[in-house]
Amino acid sequence: MKEKNLKYDEIMVRYGELSTKGRNKKTFTDRLGENVRQSLRGIDDVKVHARPDRLHVVLNGADSDVVMDRLHNVFGIQSFSPVLRTEKDFDQAAEAAIKMLAPQLEAGKITTFKVETKRQDHKFALDTFQMNRQMGGALLKAFDGQLKVDVHNPAITVLVDVRLNGIYLTSQVIPGPGGMPVGTAGKGMMMLSGGIDSPVAAYLAMKRGVSLEMVHFYSPPYTSEQALAKSKELTGVLAKYSGHIRFIQVPFTEIQETIKEKLPEGYLMTVQRRFMLRLAAAIAQKRHGLAVFNGEALGQVASQTMNSMVAINDVTSFPVLRPVLSFDKTEIIKIAEEIGTYDLSILPYEDCCTVFTPPSPKTKPNLEKTRYYEQLLDIDGLVQRALAGIEITDIHAGQEFLNQNQDVFAELL
Ligand code: ATP
Ligand code: MG
Repeated sequence: MKEKNLKYDEIMVRYGELSTKGRNKKTFTDRLGENVRQSLRGIDDVKVHARPDRLHVVLNGADSDVVMDRLHNVFGIQSFSPVLRTEKDFDQAAEAAIKMLAPQLEAGKITTFKVETKRQDHKFALDTFQMNRQMGGALLKAFDGQLKVDVHNPAITVLVDVRLNGIYLTSQVIPGPGGMPVGTAGKGMMMLSGGIDSPVAAYLAMKRGVSLEMVHFYSPPYTSEQALAKSKELTGVLAKYSGHIRFIQVPFTEIQETIKEKLPEGYLMTVQRRFMLRLAAAIAQKRHGLAVFNGEALGQVASQTMNSMVAINDVTSFPVLRPVLSFDKTEIIKIAEEIGTYDLSILPYEDCCTVFTPPSPKTKPNLEKTRYYEQLLDIDGLVQRALAGIEITDIHAGQEFLNQNQDVFAELL
């Protein structure tokens, strides 16, 4: 594409709606600036300036397409535009506008356009009306027969911003991902399995500004190295949206074996879930998290009825937040595909729940009976030993864990 050769000077970023709220504004813009910087790591020479009204990524020669690709993943961005900057001189601005439009026009076809000027520098020789007219005229002349003015419904809008330090031009407004900058809503513990739902729940939590740490339960030898690697790799995909993410793996074998040995089958699932939540809440407490997140959707499986939630939530007073609660499976799958987690999630490595799920768990477990049976176990001892066996890995965007093809192949046989 010809447009690729156009060297933009900066990407101008517009903030999401929350930035307009007085006291939160600076927290919001500072954090977004930091998150944008992180997302652009490895791209040399770019400079990020988070100003109160807009954020500017000054490219200093960097490829605008590469930068904009990364910005698509930074929550808190409402939209962005690649921008050319010139000195405050009409001829220079017109030349830049011509350069900018050329790749967007097709030979033999008439494209509609308009010019829209904003003027911060009121001393500039042309007022907005004059600028619109002269710039429009210069473009019509340069692209004779290819352009037509349409002020109501133009295909291209040339935005001209006359500021104190120069003239800024753009013709594209690209939607960002919306949401709030990761980190502005505090920290949460995400219960991440290797399934389809919890990665989507994680994405949605981050979109609301939550900075997540992943808590994953694994049960060797019942679950494989590949199942663990899959959850880590999912974390690597999700880290695209937030920078690095801590992955906390919690050994769950002893708890599952003990429950299976000592409790009636109808309560296996409920009590297992209670232990998971207990552990996630204990980790949240220790690591200054404010809530536990999971991938439950109401009514999807036996453990995800309201009765089950009553029996499971009983173990903690931490808020348990469920970002995909009201979504249908098909809606969750659609998001999973969009965010790039689906293909990993459907790999067939069984996680710790699948292995120990009884054929028909209760959909309406009784809270009193659940508590009664659970008392037959050494709850504190089991929890303490699981916590003592925790391992923490810092996972970066795109980091891979499932790359030993031979093992993958062997397991599928
Ligand atoms: P998912 O697709 O997220 O696995 P699911 O529909 O398969 O969800 P379950 O597997 O029953 O439902 O789990 C419900 C939720 O419990 C998950 O979304 C996840 O938040 C949590 N969970 C289940 N297994 C694990 C695990 N091994 N480690 C951490 N959290 C888990
Ligand atoms: Mg699952």
